Amino acid sequence: MRILNIVEGTSVDGPGLRTSIYFSGCTHKCEGCHNPQSWDYEAGKETTLEEVMKVIEYNGFPVTFSGGDPFFQAEDVTVLAREIKSRLGKNIWCYTGYRWENVVDNPRFRPLLETIDVLVDSPFILAQRDISLRFRGSGNQRIIDVKQSLAKGEVVLVDM
Ligand code: SF4
Repeated sequence: MRILNIVEGTSVDGPGLRTSIYFSGCTHKCEGCHNPQSWDYEAGKETTLEEVMKVIEYNGFPVTFSGGDPFFQAEDVTVLAREIKSRLGKNIWCYTGYRWENVVDNPRFRPLLETIDVLVDSPFILAQRDISLRFRGSGNQRIIDVKQSLAKGEVVLVDM
């Protein structure tokens, strides 16, 4: 998988201290994107599953997938998410520029969705930018409880 960066002990990508993994590649091209260099899949470097697992295991924090858009590399990120769950049982948050409705019935995306705990969805919209929001940049983005949403068949927001 191609990874731009791994940040250990960050507090901005979900509750508590977390290991954030920034994946290369994004096609959403949101105006005002915080990290346009992440759009290029060739950015960052090729990283093995074991290299990433070693970092996650060493510091013991829960995990956040960001980017870029982790769903751009959905297959590889799914393998990583399953490994994190089976070996370490860590909580996983995942950011995406897609809306929940575009992810839930997509056969490429569904396996990753079923493996994570929280999805922060939707593109960043500059006109709705709000710096008072926790863990998201614009008011249209939602912090979604994945397990509850799948069980109920509708979006259930995380109570924060
Ligand atoms: S989804 Fe995220 S990384 Fe992709 S363009 Fe939008 S803000 Fe940037």
